[in-house]
Amino acid sequence: MKKITIIGSGFSSLSAACYLAKAGHQVSLFEKNSTVGGRARQLKRDGFTFDMGPSWYWMPDIFDKFFADFGKVTKDYYQLDKLSPAYNIYFNEGNLTIGDSLDKIVQAFEEIEVGSGVKLEKFIAEAQDHYRIAIDKIVLRPGLSPLELVTPETITRVDRFFRTISQRVRKDFKNPKLIATLEFPVLFLGAKPNQTPSFYSFMNFADFGLGTWHPKGGMYEIVLAMEKLALSLGVNIHTNSPVDKIIVRDKKAVGISINGKDIMSDIVLSGADYHHSETLLDPPFRQYSEAYWDKKTFAPSSLLFYVGFNERIPNVEHHNLFFDSDFTKHAEEIYDNAVWPSDPLFYANFPSISDPSMAPENCETGFFLIPIAPDLEDNENLREAYFDKIMDRFEDKIGKNVRDSIIFKESFCVKDFKETYNSYKGNAYGMANTLMQTAFLRPKLKSSRVQNLYFTGQLTVPGPGVPPALISGKIVADLISKK
Ligand SMILES: Cc1cc2nc3c(=O)[nH]c(=O)nc-3n(C[C@H](O)[C@H](O)[C@H](O)COP(=O)(O)OP(=O)(O)OC[C@H]3O[C@@H](n4cnc5c(N)ncnc54)[C@H](O)[C@@H]3O)c2cc1C
Repeated sequence: MKKITIIGSGFSSLSAACYLAKAGHQVSLFEKNSTVGGRARQLKRDGFTFDMGPSWYWMPDIFDKFFADFGKVTKDYYQLDKLSPAYNIYFNEGNLTIGDSLDKIVQAFEEIEVGSGVKLEKFIAEAQDHYRIAIDKIVLRPGLSPLELVTPETITRVDRFFRTISQRVRKDFKNPKLIATLEFPVLFLGAKPNQTPSFYSFMNFADFGLGTWHPKGGMYEIVLAMEKLALSLGVNIHTNSPVDKIIVRDKKAVGISINGKDIMSDIVLSGADYHHSETLLDPPFRQYSEAYWDKKTFAPSSLLFYVGFNERIPNVEHHNLFFDSDFTKHAEEIYDNAVWPSDPLFYANFPSISDPSMAPENCETGFFLIPIAPDLEDNENLREAYFDKIMDRFEDKIGKNVRDSIIFKESFCVKDFKETYNSYKGNAYGMANTLMQTAFLRPKLKSSRVQNLYFTGQLTVPGPGVPPALISGKIVADLISKK
């Protein structure tokens, strides 16, 4: 039995805490904010409930596996519903509704491009094959060596690590709407589709094959579930506890310090942003330089709005993508030439459409997200200008003026990501999964400079997203327990 302190309470920290407690360790978790869940915080206001971060529940099998590892099932904690339709995409001309089954999606593709239905079935079968290899063979490996990627399955598919998802999609599909639809899922990995290996088409299987789900009450229900599980396993959870130092003696992590109070332990594990975690060490103990971090491709930051409407919003679904502008230009403005985007794509979420518990009667809970480059200048005027920009397009697309029915609006952007989560450059969801930032090429789970010091979360393996965070916690817990 070891005494283990964990920094942060995002999904990766909560996951690691559960596995480590189950393995018999004495685990204490310290979170700087007043609630647990990291980027998946909840905002409740005037009867409206908002998930402040993640809103897409994809890969239900990963959540099921997590709870099964503790002899539980998901529905012990929350009610999970498959969304039908899964989501809606607005284009310049018309829209595409993604149904809740592959058959329905094949039919919708066929209506846009003759012959694309059969190609889609083939593409998703290949994506399913990638998903099986990724989940069963690769994703649980700790990223220690390139050999982890070498399996009988990957050797015969090695081209798929060097060809990009953009190339693969364009090989079979010509209509720009279908191309945009099939390139969308890898945006969750944080990089441009033309820099993401085609092997990552497993995200397309997650999308069209496994579907889009909703935990009743919102994504925060997952956080509450994991917190309950952690407490039942004996984890001590401390909120309002910003860690200001990782204490090192004889090149060994021996504890943490919070407001001048030292808390000693055998092992320290940080689930806070990796870059920030290393700043809690004296410089000689940091593995990665500022130049290293600066060169990395980070997932975008975001400008977010949480909006309470005093009427129902027509012509929208639970999840809506507004792809009615030039994605290539927007992507350049995020990744190549970091500036505020001229005409951004955006995402709008109305969870109260399928879950009335999330808004007062005859009202709508609205969440708007604009992906932007990390570290951009952030001020109220810019935020307001962008709200107006997307509202013009939004109202035009849904055919109704809804600005007058806004009863409140809160925003969250680069500055808030930095202040609230100690996020590097205000990134929203970690370090991107490009070819050169995959698996063993990501920052390591175990410190090479300080013994008994470990890291988890979206800047290490496997990468951004809630399911990967659950997996990251499991892998690091295994690494610690095997020590
Ligand atoms: C706007 C947005 C939308 C997203 N959408 C989706 C989605 O739809 N689906 C999906 O799967 N994923 C989505 N993601 C990504 C997903 O939310 C993250 O990948 C995941 O939650 C990261 O978990 P984590 O444990 O790595 O880190 P975090 O959630 O960032 O947790 C780190 C924690 O450490 C704490 N911390 C930092 N410094 C200290 C310190 N010094 N002392 C104590 N505590 C500290 C922070 O406060 C935070 O609570 C989204 C993210 C954002 C921001």
